[in-house]
Amino acid sequence: MLQLRPNCECCDKDLPPDSMDARICSYECTFCRACAEVVLQGACPNCGGELVRRPIRPASRLAKHPASTQRVLKAQGCGRVA
Ligand SMILES: [Zn+2]
Ligand SMILES: [Zn+2]
Repeated sequence: MLQLRPNCECCDKDLPPDSMDARICSYECTFCRACAEVVLQGACPNCGGELVRRPIRPASRLAKHPASTQRVLKAQGCGRVA
């Protein structure tokens, strides 16, 4: 079952479970659409896997299986040249 993490690992943007802008890899590294498409160019910076749109969990199911509230953030950011 997906954790449905609450934020983008790159920019810390909120990604609620009903967001159409959430992108994940097979390990569920989670990014917003802007970071996934522009900064990361569709590849996960942690594992190199592809990033796809995270499916929406229906609200009726969220009550039973709530989304994760544990924020994950990459300490070094994502690929931007400092
Ligand atoms: Zn982002
Ligand atoms: Zn990954």
